[in-house]
Amino acid sequence: MPFPAYEKLAGFPHAYHLPLFSYEKRHGATMITSRGCPYTCSFCDRTVFERLYKTNSAQYTYAHMKYLRDRFGVHHINMYDDLFTAKKQRVFDLCQLLIEKPLGIQWNCAIRTGHTSDEMLAKLKQAGVLMVSMGIESADPDMMERHKAGVTLDAVRDTVRQIRAAGLRAKGLFIFGMPGETPETVRTTSDFILSLELDEMNMTKFSPLHGAPIWDECANSDSSGEMIEDWRLMNCLNFVFLPHGFKSREEMDALYNWHVRRFYDSKAYRRRFAKRLWAHRWSFWHVVRHLPETIAAARYFSLNREQLVRTKGEFVLHPRQPVGLKPFLSPDLQIDNMVSMSRQRISRREAMKALAPLTGNGNACGMSAFRQAAV
Ligand code: SF4
Repeated sequence: MPFPAYEKLAGFPHAYHLPLFSYEKRHGATMITSRGCPYTCSFCDRTVFERLYKTNSAQYTYAHMKYLRDRFGVHHINMYDDLFTAKKQRVFDLCQLLIEKPLGIQWNCAIRTGHTSDEMLAKLKQAGVLMVSMGIESADPDMMERHKAGVTLDAVRDTVRQIRAAGLRAKGLFIFGMPGETPETVRTTSDFILSLELDEMNMTKFSPLHGAPIWDECANSDSSGEMIEDWRLMNCLNFVFLPHGFKSREEMDALYNWHVRRFYDSKAYRRRFAKRLWAHRWSFWHVVRHLPETIAAARYFSLNREQLVRTKGEFVLHPRQPVGLKPFLSPDLQIDNMVSMSRQRISRREAMKALAPLTGNGNACGMSAFRQAAV
């Protein structure tokens, strides 16, 4: 299989920047070496790859990395696989190749709690990994059970400790504003994040994804909150969903800003950041070079704050945006979604039995409709 046509990207790789302070070497690029994920987190859309988990081989991935270095001078790669470490042998084989024939490339990848070991982390470190990210989402046990079943806070703590013991950086990924969220669950999560002493943190504003198990609850019912179904705003930068635990989106924004400031102002984070300033000189240089534009943007937003708030309030739905679309789910995904969203623990077999009568009635999303379409 040929490698992606990077040469068609104008200015690649100079004009493309990875998230600042998450790399040490220039230039950066991204790769995806696997598609799909065997899990069913409530907020995650798996409609494209469903239950498949497909990977590039270790040899192909190594050749791809080498191509990026030799042809474009890339020396840092962010692997954007949903779950890079699901096939252990592939990860060990790739690490072995990179250890035996080093490319001088650093890279980052994402893991899931429970999908790693001291041995694997040591290999990743030897193979040039700088930072691993893990989806934690929340520190409230009920929220975790509801949205990311099977992951416990103790397991998260252990994994972060293992990552740091291996000499790697740990990045935690969180979501703010899913159904069930309240100011208390956010404060609990914020305290937990600070206690983990993470090297980096990303907190996303929850945007329901069409096709994720949670979509129906958010978009087609008001049982857990109120949603603005405007697809232009659904980019994880706006609180399109207002859970019942909050009075307003302004309250959510204020709490979000409180947490972000608290994390980056913490002494522990500042200490870690200061130690790495030289290693991050390219990111730092990028910030300095673009300081005038950043200041101009900040001035613009502060001078036009009232007008911008008014415009946001008057934002009307695009006339061609469909509303109330039902995702077309395969039988397997319907079963997965039911298991994931059920308040009681149920097996796939029980979900299958419960779905059979519903889907036999010609439901547009149903199993029979899917089968008819497939033949
Ligand atoms: S969020 Fe959950 S379902 Fe989605 S890729 Fe990560 S582990 Fe898999």
